Amino acid sequence: MKILVSACLAGINCRFNGKNQVNKKIKKMLEEGKAVCVCPEELGGLLTPRLPSEMIDGSGEDVLEEKAGVINEEGADVTKNFIEGSRKALEIAKKYKIKNAILKSKSTACGKGQIYDGTFSGKLKEGNGVTCALLMKNKIKVITENDI
Ligand code: SF4
Repeated sequence: MKILVSACLAGINCRFNGKNQVNKKIKKMLEEGKAVCVCPEELGGLLTPRLPSEMIDGSGEDVLEEKAGVINEEGADVTKNFIEGSRKALEIAKKYKIKNAILKSKSTACGKGQIYDGTFSGKLKEGNGVTCALLMKNKIKVITENDI
């Protein structure tokens, strides 16, 4: 069974700054055909490179319930992009009958347990990224690159 992985961890240059955050084990999983890559921010229509985005108030679960939002560094509302990208990532997971995911820590889309706090200062708060929250809601087990 394949594992869903954050594309930037597999070496794809999809981060906001046009770079990746490669993890050798995850890259190897992709090369061996064991992983399926997704970048929820790109799937939601955001371009690369792009401005960084953070969650204002709440966690990914709150964003999915429209109780919180996501803005980019210039204050533009990108909540819809994050929700749309998360839905597409879930669709891909369902298509491959995926039950496990390894997602990038701290990210506003992919993070689990801790995410950036909305001040664009590098500070963290407790919470899950929007995609992480949606996957977990659909019974997909999520861990981060720090757990492997
Ligand atoms: S949305 Fe996820 S996969 Fe895409 S760059 Fe951010 S952390 Fe990586």
